[in-house]
Formats: sequence, C-alpha cells, structure tokens
Amino acid sequence: MDREGVAFTCPRRRAETLHPSGTLARMSIVVQKYGGTSVADAGRIRAVAARAVETHKSGKDVVVVVSAMGAYTDDLIVLAAEVTENSHPREMDMLLTSGERISMALVAMAIEDHGIGSMSLTGSQAGILTTEDHGHAEIIGIRGDRVREGLSAGMIVIVAGFQGFSPETRDVTTLGRGGSDATAVALAATLGAEVCEIYTDVDGVFTADPRLVPNATKLDEISFEEMLELAAAGARVLMPRSVEFGRRYKIPIHVRSSFHGGAGTWVKEETMEEAIIRGVAHDASEAKVTVHGVPDQPSLAAQLFEPLAQAGISVDMIVQNVSLKGVTDISFTVPRTDLEMAEKVARTAAEDIGAAGVDVDHNIAKVSLVGAGMKDELGIASKMFRILADHDVNIEMISTSPIRISCVVRGDDVGAAVQGLHDGFSLGDEENGNNG
Ligand code: ADP
Ligand code: ASP
Ligand code: MG
Repeated sequence: MDREGVAFTCPRRRAETLHPSGTLARMSIVVQKYGGTSVADAGRIRAVAARAVETHKSGKDVVVVVSAMGAYTDDLIVLAAEVTENSHPREMDMLLTSGERISMALVAMAIEDHGIGSMSLTGSQAGILTTEDHGHAEIIGIRGDRVREGLSAGMIVIVAGFQGFSPETRDVTTLGRGGSDATAVALAATLGAEVCEIYTDVDGVFTADPRLVPNATKLDEISFEEMLELAAAGARVLMPRSVEFGRRYKIPIHVRSSFHGGAGTWVKEETMEEAIIRGVAHDASEAKVTVHGVPDQPSLAAQLFEPLAQAGISVDMIVQNVSLKGVTDISFTVPRTDLEMAEKVARTAAEDIGAAGVDVDHNIAKVSLVGAGMKDELGIASKMFRILADHDVNIEMISTSPIRISCVVRGDDVGAAVQGLHDGFSLGDEENGNNG
C-alpha cells in the first residue's frame, strides 16, 4: 500500500473506444465483484453473467472480479489439512488460487452465451503484482494491460479475485481471506473506474451483522473512515484493505445484493449526516495470550513483541496490568490462525525475560462501537460499559481510536453484547436516526 510509485500507474484512465453506434465514445468503466455465495452454483453464475451483460449493454465497460464458488476455499483448506499437518505456504497458494479460476472460466462461458465477447484472466495474467508473502500478500501494483486490451476489444473481462503474482519470487500468491474485495477496488483504481460494485449475500452494510442482529438497519451510506474501522473490527462484508484502496484512490464502493437490483450502501468520502454511532462490529476470530510475572523493567515489552513481529504475527490489542511487587502481566490478542506460532514465540520470549509463564485463551470475542461523531461526544465509552454490565458481560480488555471503542469479552457473550449495544444505542430498524 505504501509503494504508491509502483502502484496504479494509470489512475482515472477512461477507455476510448468505438461505441456500437459507430461513433468514438468515452466509455466509463464499472468493476463488479461477486462473492462466494453469488457464484455458488450454475444458476447463480448465469445470473452474474446476465447482470454483467446488462451493464455492458447500458454502455459501460465491465470488469468482473470473482471469488471461489460457495465455500470452496474453506473446503480446499480442510482438504490440505487432511493431507498434511505441516505448513506449505507456496503450495497452499497454488491450491487456493484454483478456486477463483473455476468461477472465472464459468462466468466467462456464461457471458459468451449472450453473444458478448468475454475473457477470463488469472491474477497473474491480469498483472496483479504483490509482495511475496504467501497467504497474506499485498498488492503493490497492477499492470492491467490485458484487462485494457480486452475492454478495448469490446469484451467483458473477468479477473480471478484474491490472487496475484510476486515479481520477486515469480510465484503465485493469495491476498488473505476476503481478498477478492481488495482485487476489485485496486483494479477499479488502476482502470479509473467510476464505481466498484461489491455484490454479496446481504443488501448492503448494516448497523451490525444482520445474521446476528435481526433488526440491524441497512445504511444508505458510510464514510471510508468509518467503514475501515468497522471492517478492521470484524464486519467482514468488506476486507479492510479494499476500503483503504477506496479511500486512497477515491473510488466509491457500492455494496449491494447479488439477488436483486435494489440500491445497497455507498462507501464514500463524505456522508450527508455524521452519526454518533454508525454501527457495532464483532470479531470472534482472535485468541488471547497472557504472559504472567513479567519483571517490570524497561525493554521487556520490546523483547516480547519484537520476536512476534519477526514471526509475522499481527498483534491486535495489548493490555499491561499495573505492576505489583515489581512484576506485571501482559495480555495480547492475535488471529486464532496464528495462535500456535504466537504461543511458541511467547514461551521462548517469556523464558528469555524471566517471566513466570504463558496462558492462552481461545474463547474470546471483540465487540466494537464505531461512529465518526463519537469524537465530539462525551460519555460514549461509559454508556458502552454500562450496557455491557447490564447484560452481565465482563470486559477483559479495552482499546480505542478516535472513532472506535473495542472491548474483549467472553466468546459466549458476544451475541448478548452486540445485540445489547445495538439496542442500547438505538441502532435498530424502528428507532434508527436518533442514535446516541
Ligand atoms: P462474500 O462472499 O460476498 O464476500 P462475505 O461472507 O465475505 O461475503 O461478507 C458478507 C457477510 O458479512 C454477510 O453475510 C454478513 O453476515 C457479514 N457481515 C458482518 N458484519 C456486517 C455488516 N455490518 N453489514 C453487512 N454484513 C455484515
Ligand atoms: N475465496 C477467498 C476466500 O474465501 C477470497 C474471497 O472470497 O474474497 O477468502
Ligand atoms: Mg467477502
């Protein structure tokens, strides 16, 4: 993300092409991304093709980014775990990229059946350049010439999401779970698209996960800033990196249902109204590590967290207790998928610094309140803590940003915590509009 010089060498470009009328017209480009549920079977794939064709016929250049069908990526991960207990990052990426390859070819076939030229491209063929980090590579630039050539030839171009190619290692990479969102918005930035449409299995971005909170309200719009906080706090409807691309390159993102044509949620720079609380997010994908009896001396935190960073583990929340008799406890959260490695690294570091021991806790969840207006409002944190207390939810860790407050709670309490906060801040369908 920081290598702006390499990335997106052709921002805001618009394809000049011959319109079907025979006149030279400037076509605007639309990038449409379809998630797993939206391409889950043959019927859904034909529906995606029909929508892309309709958009093409309305006079737009269309680039479609697809995810793997249904839960195919999960199935491949399970299959690999049945074959081997060891980690094989390069081969894992070779395996997982096959999922998007299946859907891209099928979507292209279904589009051609409408009599419109189509071409599917792997991430590597589309020139999506990434870092070499298997499993969580970052897009550092997009060549995109084959995409542009396809568009100039009047085709609908299909690009496999979630994957790229490292120019350093010449290997195929994947971008991390949900990475097709990042592919789509980065492509939209490179091509100068007017919008990046994210088609998914819900009607847009809601005030909370609608699968957990039945009365969650669909938002008409949300700022990049708020969406970034919600996504980073676990609202998986958009991958955080896709929102970062949108914000940096000013690409409006329209999150909408692939099941009907209704308007969804616009993620953009400014919103008409600034809400005190825009939504509640939850994340049950992390685990907690506690290092006990850490001598309370300068540099010990550095000696604990440096090896974790070197091992590529991203630490989220950190709490250090008040020191008692010269020793303290330090707790931190990590993605559960990194827990085994984090525990190993923490045990070695704990021994080196003379700490008493290490505990891990799988059963935690994080709940977060997000809203741009909270920075000017007093008492939001105390109200949040009171609501959690009233629902018998114990708070184990707290972290804040200017527009977010997050609490770690017991995993079993997450439903009550999210619903309680959603009701307590009046975010539900009936009352929405006067929250805070
Ligand atoms: P896709 O396969 O289309 O990328 P995802 O499963 O990645 O779909 O993301 C969509 C899911 O995100 C929804 O089904 C919903 O359960 C979840 N979600 C979590 N928080 C929110 C939210 N605030 N608004 C909408 N959806 C959310
Ligand atoms: N198929 C990948 C995943 O399941 C990428 C995506 O869907 O965005 O994470
Ligand atoms: Mg997704």
